[in-house]
Amino acid sequence: MSRFFSQKYQNLIPYTPGEQPRDMQYIKLNTNESPFPPPKAVEQAVAGEAGLLQLYPDPTNRTLTAKVAELAGVSPDEVLLTNGSDEVLNFAFMAFCDREHPAAFPDITYGFYSVFAEINGVPYTEIPLKADFSIDPADYLRCGKTIFIANPNAPTGLALSVAQIEQIVQQNPDNVVVIDEAYVDFGAESCVPLTARYENLLVTQTFSKSRSMAGARLGFGIGSKELIRDLNTIKYSTNPYNINRMTAAAGLATLEQNAEAMNNCRTICENRTETMQALKALGFTVTDSHTNFVFAKHPAMDGKTLYQKLKARGILVRHFDKPRIADYNRITIGTAEQMQTLVQTIREILEEC
Ligand SMILES: *Cc1c(COP(=O)(O)O)cnc(C)c1O
Repeated sequence: MSRFFSQKYQNLIPYTPGEQPRDMQYIKLNTNESPFPPPKAVEQAVAGEAGLLQLYPDPTNRTLTAKVAELAGVSPDEVLLTNGSDEVLNFAFMAFCDREHPAAFPDITYGFYSVFAEINGVPYTEIPLKADFSIDPADYLRCGKTIFIANPNAPTGLALSVAQIEQIVQQNPDNVVVIDEAYVDFGAESCVPLTARYENLLVTQTFSKSRSMAGARLGFGIGSKELIRDLNTIKYSTNPYNINRMTAAAGLATLEQNAEAMNNCRTICENRTETMQALKALGFTVTDSHTNFVFAKHPAMDGKTLYQKLKARGILVRHFDKPRIADYNRITIGTAEQMQTLVQTIREILEEC
């Protein structure tokens, strides 16, 4: 730390992204990326913008916003596009949290929430998941805080029903409830329809996972016009051109081929079912995933050892060195072939031990 670093960030521990090692070709099952490339049309769309890079992009993102709104069944002024959904989540911490409105989220969830709270000086409460890793909606009723819930949750993969979320939203009329739907396209129900009825609900989604665009950085929030106006105030006070031209074009081209992405999601869900069955047959405990990853532990091997042995054999998974979940690994669902290699490699590792 330099002697110039602001006092207010002295205790900030940044988010740790999944590792991206270069020492060899790994089967990458550690950052929940899609194993499938984006639609072919995305390449031409991006190339078409490359020759226009001397010009700023449209700060209102008119065309893409309209397309996202149309697919979501909302109006364009209820949508804000951001540089990954991480950005809209950070904006939500900036806009809707302060000392009077502290944040609340589960103790085991997306690691960025506590970082966003810290960097914005927002006090926060981590509410423990139940022993089975599920969220108890009762813990969030009348809680008097700005609530952040990933639904489905990460890294557990478990989902609440829309009815359970609605109860939380209804019972916190004076606080914003943010539902992070990064994984919703892999078999959970979206809360977007509820935004028409609840002015305090913000739903966030991303192109990173279900739409094969993690490298483009594109996400969005959907909520009432008033919430979106507040988020725009934050956006225009930090980075009005938060979506670059190439990403906007890629996003539009992807949505024009929406069936392809949804097809890929179906394939991933099928591969997930196969992988869960195979892991259970090997003795693993696997949570009931509604995402493009599984969360699994084996009685004969701790999570870190399995992670290390898989890495040595060229397969990367994500291990979290955290109490309660250290026995587990989070394994992204890839192609059928990648998952067969994973299961076979785990079988060999378990036979050796
Ligand atoms: C991946 C992820 C995000 C954000 O990803 P972006 O690439 O920034 O869109 C947000 N929430 C959860 C729970 C995630 O897993």
